[in-house]
Formats: sequence, structure tokens, C-alpha cells
Amino acid sequence: MNYTVDENGYYGEFGGAFVPEMLFGNVEELRKNYLPIIESEAFKTEFEALLKDYVGRPSPLFFAKNLSEKYGAQIFLKREDLNHTGAHKVNNTIGQILLAKALGKTRILAETGAGQHGVATATVCALMGLDCTVFMGEKDIVRQAPNVARMKMLGAKVVPATSGSKTLKDATNEAIRYWINNPDSYYLIGSVVGFHPYPDMVARFQSVISAEIKTQLQEKFGNPNPQYVIACVGGGSNAAGAFYHFLDEPMVKLVAVEASGMGVDSGETAATMQIGTKGVIHGSMTMLMQDKEGQIIEPYSISAGLDYPGIGPLHAHLFQTKRAQFLDATDNEALDAALELTKTEGIIPALESSHALAALSKISFKPSDVVVVNLSGRGDKDMETYMRHFQL
Ligand SMILES: *Cc1c(COP(=O)(O)O)cnc(C)c1O
Repeated sequence: MNYTVDENGYYGEFGGAFVPEMLFGNVEELRKNYLPIIESEAFKTEFEALLKDYVGRPSPLFFAKNLSEKYGAQIFLKREDLNHTGAHKVNNTIGQILLAKALGKTRILAETGAGQHGVATATVCALMGLDCTVFMGEKDIVRQAPNVARMKMLGAKVVPATSGSKTLKDATNEAIRYWINNPDSYYLIGSVVGFHPYPDMVARFQSVISAEIKTQLQEKFGNPNPQYVIACVGGGSNAAGAFYHFLDEPMVKLVAVEASGMGVDSGETAATMQIGTKGVIHGSMTMLMQDKEGQIIEPYSISAGLDYPGIGPLHAHLFQTKRAQFLDATDNEALDAALELTKTEGIIPALESSHALAALSKISFKPSDVVVVNLSGRGDKDMETYMRHFQL
């Protein structure tokens, strides 16, 4: 079985590049150039130096002793929460900003839902002195005021998307429209979604996570492979990064955890693999939540970063080939898991990452099992939600 992208941008039957004709030139430029650039020695040297000194990598692999006792396994946390800006997203924005520079682009555009990707993009634009425009649904701008303020402080222009439901998919439409009108700019996508080559490119940048896990487990146990790798999935980038170097190790069980919101059948969910069907979203053939007319069903999750109606094409392929197991966790299960990690290990996780932690109670482990949970982000941004739910 093959889990890498083919030359047309497909993982099995998922992927591709369904883009308007006006974008062919831009997409072609990127498709032809991304591998030669990111595989060059000059690029690798600069990327690795920034990951080390700016992001703070390698992120630790922490043995969670108390959690391990509770679940009867050897549980390790991959601490992406300790990265600069508080999550894994910066691994990808650093990679893409270096690529944009190598392509000679000076203007960056992005779309953001909760604002986390917008902040990670505005951060690297500030670092590199590049012009940054972020499209964001008008509703999300109101809901995510602190992230809007961060982006502005970092020098980005935040443009409200006022059409449709005024959320992420509308921001995406406006970003693509802007790209068509400004073909000299670079479109910086925040997850393993969108048209080829973005899913492959983002997975490669995030693959530093599993590369480090391998080295760290090798040092601890003399064996680079755990029994389980568990990660939450919105678009799928932290999971893709955590799975990447284990895809061809069939003994390593890969567990992807989606957000089921109020419950899979509640109508208030973001569990794409549970209720989704095949279709095109964001320029790629994948699984998505849509009604009979092909209209996107508005997703819901307490966690803004998992509130996405699709999933990257690699994950649709991992689901179909059964290479990864897809579980889901509700809002309440994620909240319980967040409180549990906080009380047992003294780490306040992001709500997204709490969905991955919630899967620990859904799997029966053997005491010898080495389990890596990708702790994709820290909980600072979620304190308001925690205050409300835990009456702090
Ligand atoms: C954005 C985000 C996610 C979800 O995005 P993926 O592309 O699925 O990784 C998960 N965790 C955190 C902390 C995030 O900020």
C-alpha cells in the first residue's frame, strides 16, 4: 500500500487540484518548484535553523507517568504546545514563508477560521518583513477577538469575509478570489487541505514531528517505533506530521480523533469521517460534510481548530485503506480530558489536543504498549471556555 502522493496529486482516489482556470499558472508554478526548493540544501539549512532557534525544536517527548498509571500503558506526550506561538502550526508557516521567499514573492495571503493559522502566518511575515493579508469570516472576527488583535499587532491586514455564513469557507472563497486578482502573491494554506501540492507540502513540513518522535524513542528504548500514535484531526496537519514517518511501519497503530461536537448524530458535529461523503472542497477530492444538494453542512465543535467540514485527502485515503483508525470525541469528552491532563500532569492542553487525549479511554492498551499522543497546542487560547465550563 502506498501513502505518498502520486504525480497528479492523488492519494488513492483522493486529492488532485480542482482549481479555476485563472489559477492554473500559479498552481503550476508551485507544483513544479516546491520539491526542488524544499529539498535543496540551502532551504533545509535555513528551515532547520529557524525550527531550532525560533520555534524551539526539538519539542520534548514527555513521559506522562500519572496518565500512564491511570490508563495502563506507557504514555508519552509530544509537546508541540511548547512551540513558539503555542502549537504545531508554525512548523508549516515557517516552511511556506521560506518557499515563498525562494519563489520571489513579497506578499502573503491566507485564510483563517479560529485565527490560529492567521496568527502563525502573521508571525512569520513579521519575521521575514513580508506583507500579510488574512481573510477571516466576519462572524469569526467577532468570536476570536484576541487572535485578530495579535494578527494586527504583528502587522497583518485582516479582511472580513461578509458572504454566506461569514465563516471559514467564505474566507477561503475570498482568499482564492484575491489570489486570482493578485497572482504575484503567495497563498499560504494552514493544513493538509486544498489542491495539490498543498497537502503533500504541508505534510512534509509537519513531518518533523514524527522524525523527532522516532529519534526520541530510539534514544529512550532503542526502538524508534511506538505501538500507537494518537492525534486530533481538523484538516489533519498535526496528525499527518505525527503519522508521516510511521505510515510504512504497519506495526504502529495510527489513531486519528475527530471532534463530534454534541454527538455524531446531533447535527452539531465536525466528525467528517462519521457523517461525510466524497466530494470536492477547497480544490481537492476528499470526504466532506455535505447535504444531498452538495451544499456544505456547517460544522460544529467546541474547539475552533477542529471546526472544519472536510479533511485532508491523505486522511480520506488512510481511512479508506484502514491504515488509520478514526475515532471521535464529543465536546464533553474533550473537556473532561483537558481537566484530567491539567490535574494529573500540570499541563493545560488546547481543546483540539484534548480530543486526542479523550481517545485514551476508548482504547484498551497492554501495559507494555508505548503510546504517543501528539499534544498539538497549549490551552491559553481556550481559557475563556475552560473558565465557563469549569466555573473557575
Ligand atoms: C489548528 C489546530 C488543530 C487542527 O488542525 P490540524 O491541521 O488538523 O492539525 C489542532 N490543534 C491545534 C492546537 C490547532 O491550533
